[in-house]
Amino acid sequence: MKTLENLKNCFRKLQGVGPRQAERFTLHYLRAPEAEVAALIEALLEARKNVKYCTECFNYSEADLCPICADKSRDKSILCVVQEAKDIEALEKTKVFKGVYHVLHGAVSPLEGKNIDNLKVRELLERVQNSPIEIKEIILATNPDSEGEMTALYLADLLRGLVGKISRLGYGVPLGAQLDYIDEMTLTHSLKGRTDL
Ligand SMILES: [Zn+2]
Repeated sequence: MKTLENLKNCFRKLQGVGPRQAERFTLHYLRAPEAEVAALIEALLEARKNVKYCTECFNYSEADLCPICADKSRDKSILCVVQEAKDIEALEKTKVFKGVYHVLHGAVSPLEGKNIDNLKVRELLERVQNSPIEIKEIILATNPDSEGEMTALYLADLLRGLVGKISRLGYGVPLGAQLDYIDEMTLTHSLKGRTDL
């Protein structure tokens, strides 16, 4: 049935959702009360309308500045560069990092045809160069997999000379992992044990 195929294909576009899961979601919404379906559509449209990028760090935000950038107690001389906005949540849980973030929205991936031009890299360089206060350190907290490592090396090359210190998350981060899957204890150690690049 074409209508059901269409709906299933919508769910298949979500990262990590396979054909069986897409099938389950499809059946769920077929059987759900109409109000639930309407609430989903409404929530999707509202999110698209109200959520934008933070003008400083490119985290998702409903205001011009996200709550972290708007927080005056955060140390704006230390920048932690992450691949995705969800990585911020993981790092915030450790309560160790008091600086601010920069979200790249992806990683360099030759397989997917993604290079630094598709990421918020130009914005990062501009931010560093135009910063009203001196940026003392940039922590490259991209994923510890091959794409994340490649991205970190690219960035380190571009940033060298612009900031005093460039570091990478330290020991204990399992290779090939994604940041938001790493437990708080391990992330805390990685932040504290970060190494210079
Ligand atoms: Zn922000």
